[in-house]
Amino acid sequence: MDSVKCYNCKKVTNLICHKCQKPICSKHSYTTHHHLYCATCFLRERKVGMAKSWGMLAVLIAIGIVIVIIAKG
Ligand SMILES: [Zn+2]
Ligand SMILES: [Zn+2]
Repeated sequence: MDSVKCYNCKKVTNLICHKCQKPICSKHSYTTHHHLYCATCFLRERKVGMAKSWGMLAVLIAIGIVIVIIAKG
């Protein structure tokens, strides 16, 4: 069986990125949504997550504005 090595530091590992399946050691892995990610995929996931929360905020603000307009008559 081949020994899998971290793509970053070449340390033997049994962890892989949940997204790109790249081998990663515990030092170079990031946990988010209960999955392990490499640095690249972690940043990408985090950006997607941030975009989602900003989208939610925009929706809430829009609803707030509509309520104010309705309340004013
Ligand atoms: Zn590493
Ligand atoms: Zn990855």
